[in-house]
Amino acid sequence: MSQTKILLDEADIPTRWYNVIADMPNPPTPPVGPDGKPLGPEALGAIFPDALLEQEMSSERWIEIPEAVREIYRLWRPSPLFRAHRLEAALGTPAHIYYKYEGGSPAGSHKPNTAVAQAYYNRQAGIRRLSTETGAGQWGSSLALVGQMFGIDVRVYMVKVSYQQKPYRRSMMQAWGAEVFASPSVETEAGRAALAADPDNPGSLGLAISEAVEEAASRKDTNYALGSVLNHVILHQSVIGLEAKKQLEIVGEYPDAVFACCGGGSNFGGIAFPFFADKAAGKEVRLVAVEPASCPTLTKGSYTWDYGDTAGLTPIVKMHTLGHDFVPPGIHAGGLRYHGESPLVSQLYDEGLIEAVAVPQLATFEAGVTFARTEGIVPAPETNHAIRAVIDEAERCKESGEPKVLLFNLSGHGHFDMAAYDRFFAGDLKDYEYPAAAIEEALSNLPQIPE
Ligand SMILES: *Cc1c(COP(=O)(O)O)cnc(C)c1O
Repeated sequence: MSQTKILLDEADIPTRWYNVIADMPNPPTPPVGPDGKPLGPEALGAIFPDALLEQEMSSERWIEIPEAVREIYRLWRPSPLFRAHRLEAALGTPAHIYYKYEGGSPAGSHKPNTAVAQAYYNRQAGIRRLSTETGAGQWGSSLALVGQMFGIDVRVYMVKVSYQQKPYRRSMMQAWGAEVFASPSVETEAGRAALAADPDNPGSLGLAISEAVEEAASRKDTNYALGSVLNHVILHQSVIGLEAKKQLEIVGEYPDAVFACCGGGSNFGGIAFPFFADKAAGKEVRLVAVEPASCPTLTKGSYTWDYGDTAGLTPIVKMHTLGHDFVPPGIHAGGLRYHGESPLVSQLYDEGLIEAVAVPQLATFEAGVTFARTEGIVPAPETNHAIRAVIDEAERCKESGEPKVLLFNLSGHGHFDMAAYDRFFAGDLKDYEYPAAAIEEALSNLPQIPE
């Protein structure tokens, strides 16, 4: 049997991030203000340091990773690439299935890859206080982890439904020294307004972003950090795909298709975009983003101008969106409950250069359990979406007899999500209907941009 675990040395941690903008056929659309005029870096200087804004706007193909960031990456990078021999055997598929395991970081997901970089550049700019939002708690814990390392106080607005479902994510953030508030909270205007309208508001990522941005914009000493969506976040996550390419080379393979679950698009962009560079140069490779059927931003959303948050405090960006005041059903993949999508992922999807599929909740848990019972790792509910799509593809390979090479990103482990698995085992989880009426209503509230 060929190798199971393909490992790299610390010296193989990438020295440069890959920026997909350099290989996109059309330049990305810049964010605009309510007047429809493009925003320059100065408009965002109140909440982001210059170095990150420069990366946000950059079209350079390669951007140097500071040595201090690589030094912290050494705690968990390079991450292993696994060949899923046991899953392949259980499925009886001729496909070769590989997964890049990002659950080995201290916070248990890919998110520290960008948290380290963001904390580094903020600290370089003299910032000692960061506000942020978190859905399932993965991003909040990642920022809490690195805040501690760089001497930055971290304040996290955590979506209330997750705050209640995942008390141990909150404890973890507190162990790393962060302050955590259930959102909507009484700390901000946006939170108080949401609570006045509906005291039982379960919260949403969009609303938690409003709270964190409001805090950063209203205090000189505080900046804001976002765990997904933005160009610089996707840039930092490129270490995943860059390493995976090297690892596949070692075993003489190249993927026919690359899969990742897609909430804001950062782990998808992270693993898929370094392969997009080859695709842009003419190589055939399918890049597949997998999203929940109940929050189908790419497959059912509009590609249009919208706010990144519920209250309309962020710049307006062109992206796939379900409408900034859409509140998705309370599925257990909290990290995939976002109304919008990375503008880069949105544009490439709109141009037909990447693919997307939507999968229902129960089928994702079935896939996650199959994975746990073969490969051992219990995946995060978000990751289960990618695994569902990979198993479906591997089953098609079984029918056609094609030994395709399939790569997916195992974005995080599910050790803090066992309550969701419990509900699945008890038969209490359900598939939500596609929320057509709620999406239609939210799409009628899009900002009107003068063209
Ligand atoms: C946050 C998260 C996601 C979704 O975010 P993306 O930006 O779309 O990657 C997926 N998987 C895990 C484990 C997460 O923590």
